[in-house]
Amino acid sequence: MIEPIDVLKINANRPTLDGNNIDITDVRLFRALRFAWEKCMGRGANVMAYMSGRTFGKSLNLKTIDEMIEFAKNYKIGIITVVNKNPLQIRVDECMTCSGLPNMEKPLCYFEGGFIVGCLEGIVNKKVKINETHCIGLGDDFCQFEVSTYPLYIFK
Ligand SMILES: [Zn+2]
Repeated sequence: MIEPIDVLKINANRPTLDGNNIDITDVRLFRALRFAWEKCMGRGANVMAYMSGRTFGKSLNLKTIDEMIEFAKNYKIGIITVVNKNPLQIRVDECMTCSGLPNMEKPLCYFEGGFIVGCLEGIVNKKVKINETHCIGLGDDFCQFEVSTYPLYIFK
């Protein structure tokens, strides 16, 4: 089976569609698939998006948060900023899933949340929990996640 990380290294070989070796897929196609999953699977689509993002993020084997930020920018997942360190709060602007969408009264960015978790679990070598506190899907102007590691230090 092919690993997600390996797919990134393969030229898509689409000279007519992509030109100049730059592999471009319109973000709207990703979103169309994302919301088609929801039609097919209901809330199961959120789990799938989250687990896909987590598996993908982990497969990158990044070493620092700066590498995660750089990767997310280069692959147009979003503009990631660490807005607070304790608790760890991570903001995503121009999010791949939801930027420009109307208020849908629910958070939408399960792929991005999973991606952050997968990257961070590789970086800190602990299980990571995430909660999307702000989302364009909730009517906010950006997406933001609160991150914690667990098990929490309850015996401290
Ligand atoms: Zn969002």
